[in-house]
Amino acid sequence: MVSASKPEQAATGGPNWLAEAVRAANVPTLACILVQLTGDRHWIEGRFVPSRTRGLEDNDDGGLPVEVRDEIKAAALAALQAWLDGRAPAIPNPSDELLLEMMGVSLGEKIPSDYVTMIRHELRLPPPKAAATRGAASENVELHNVPPPPGFDVLIIGAGISGLCAAIELSSAGIPYTIVERRPDLGGVWLENRYPGAAVDVPSHLYSFSFAPFRWSRFFAESREIHRYLQDVADRFDVRSHIRYGLEVEQARFDEASGRWEADVVDASGRRQTLRASAVISGVGAFNKPRLPDLPGMADFKGPSVHTARYPDQGLDLKGKKVVVIGNGASAMQVVPAIVDDVASLVVVQRTPQWVAPFPKFKEAIVPALQRLLDEVPLYRLWYRLRLSWAFNDKLYDSLQKDPSWDGKGRSINAINDSHRRGLTAYMKAELGQAEGLMPELLPDYPPFGKRMLLDNGWFRALARDHVRLVTGGVVRVLPDGVVTDTGEKLDADVLIWATGFDVIHLLTPLKVRGVGGRDIHDDWEGDDARAYLGTVVPGYPNLFCLYGPNTQFGHGGSLITILERQMHYVMSMLRKMFAQGIATVDVRRDVYDAYNREVDRKHAGMVWTYPGVTGYYRNSKGRIIVNNPFRIIEFWRMTEEADLSEYSCSPSGLQATAPAPRTGAPAR
Ligand SMILES: Cc1cc2nc3c(=O)[nH]c(=O)nc-3n(C[C@H](O)[C@H](O)[C@H](O)COP(=O)(O)OP(=O)(O)OC[C@H]3O[C@@H](n4cnc5c(N)ncnc54)[C@H](O)[C@@H]3O)c2cc1C
Repeated sequence: MVSASKPEQAATGGPNWLAEAVRAANVPTLACILVQLTGDRHWIEGRFVPSRTRGLEDNDDGGLPVEVRDEIKAAALAALQAWLDGRAPAIPNPSDELLLEMMGVSLGEKIPSDYVTMIRHELRLPPPKAAATRGAASENVELHNVPPPPGFDVLIIGAGISGLCAAIELSSAGIPYTIVERRPDLGGVWLENRYPGAAVDVPSHLYSFSFAPFRWSRFFAESREIHRYLQDVADRFDVRSHIRYGLEVEQARFDEASGRWEADVVDASGRRQTLRASAVISGVGAFNKPRLPDLPGMADFKGPSVHTARYPDQGLDLKGKKVVVIGNGASAMQVVPAIVDDVASLVVVQRTPQWVAPFPKFKEAIVPALQRLLDEVPLYRLWYRLRLSWAFNDKLYDSLQKDPSWDGKGRSINAINDSHRRGLTAYMKAELGQAEGLMPELLPDYPPFGKRMLLDNGWFRALARDHVRLVTGGVVRVLPDGVVTDTGEKLDADVLIWATGFDVIHLLTPLKVRGVGGRDIHDDWEGDDARAYLGTVVPGYPNLFCLYGPNTQFGHGGSLITILERQMHYVMSMLRKMFAQGIATVDVRRDVYDAYNREVDRKHAGMVWTYPGVTGYYRNSKGRIIVNNPFRIIEFWRMTEEADLSEYSCSPSGLQATAPAPRTGAPAR
């Protein structure tokens, strides 16, 4: 766990800020903090019990009558004022039972008891006293203090969220590191994606490091604000001086003689050099290779023709222009509503329809007083985030499992999924209004959640506008003044916006990675069949740790940052054990890796994204799911709690890495 001083931020919200903040606050969250601040548990009992939180909503009013809400708010205002005046919370560290009850009541559903470790982590609470004195915990405390051996250093590739997370954890353990970043600035996708409407689709208070809160101006921050956040984090944790910009790693090679990695890097002028390190952490990301179709005439278009990830920082003048947007994924769904008022005409070309969920807070600003409450009252912020972490994480998991006895006629996989389908269909119809005639073109014929669920940002309303047209099909040719679809229709355009997504499947490319015996990771992965143990380590590549590696994105939602923090937690526990036991290199055992990937595939076989007819970027050319993680987040949490060195071939300091076990035939399918 890491910490840093908080940045100085101007106080906002006026003299009555607290009263204003409480008025705008989330009532179930206020009830939880009331229990902790006052020690009175009746705030989560009887008439104060909120309704169940539905879908991805925050359930701000808790479904409670106005007089009950007012009572909670008045009590919260008094308790918070007392806390600000210096009174300590009555229950600073609730018992496991009370925590589970508070979280369950505030969300309106039972939270399984195995979530308690995660709840404690989210609320920054230490384990209860009894557990803290047990052997394992005290052993961990001792391990925390083991310094790296002299000369041990780490090379981090990439200065996006992954690279920053790695850097912060390493520096908290006193491990020297360097980050190599090919771009002139940090931030990764949040530096690159500057198209109108570019934003996160996970709430910002969840899509941020658990150890680095921020005063967000919106519930779902725009790209530029996330970039500012990442810059701020880099400053707070003093990461910037460790970053070498404008250097691309072309190849990383494990040198068996020294047991160290060598990285060939090149700068913009073509100058090459080799960097060396004891371990490599890859933070190269997955969503930064724009996928542009290779169509005849691409170079002939006479106006601007841009991929969303290459949209000019200063914007494009779209006033009075005919614009064609190709694609209907997450980026298209953000860009279309953002430009619809500017353009003379807009054509959206979709291949297959998408499921889109309502989320009323998507564009909502957070009033300054509430920003201040979230910023200055950690108890409120942490409980608010904890509730989000359930709604956007494992809450959905059961509904993504195929029910073998369910006959959904290809449209749904179980009863809950079917009710999702009905609810989303009704929502689509209501949003389209007069343009209801678009329903047949917009209604997916695969089950909800088969592809990543997209959040409505005014998408249907934009499509319903008179100057907007939806075309289903593919673009096959580009002309100087438009595009031609596969039905032969010409679509006139002054501007083309390619919202065609990214090559996510070829993980780690174009980076070349060579392991023991000169083996090539892309050969081992047969091109697009990337796999790893815990999404992090691959046999034959000692001391290489991949953040956002294969099967690390949770298809049932969630913030990737939660997963990156868990991956780094695991890596840190590994490094500490290596230092304590004088181990120089660790190489995961092939049988461990194979067994894990068999389990990944077995779990996926029971889930929605392997349902017949479901396609998308999760799957490789053989149909195998390589992007998503099939476990509950709490399961992955447990798996990454502590590295088990018996799962690795370990080489003591001074010796070269052990040769990897021979390949046991083709990887599990
Ligand atoms: C528009 C958009 C919206 C998204 N929204 C969400 C969301 O709502 N929730 C969510 O969880 N995820 C979202 N994602 C996914 C997003 O990719 C991750 O959340 C996260 O930003 C990944 O961070 P990263 O550091 O792993 O990768 P990146 O941000 O891609 O950073 C990788 C960095 O490595 C550098 N790099 C790569 N290769 C090399 C090399 N060989 N040498 C040197 N430097 C290199 C790159 O230049 C880049 O700076 C979104 C992605 C996009 C594109």
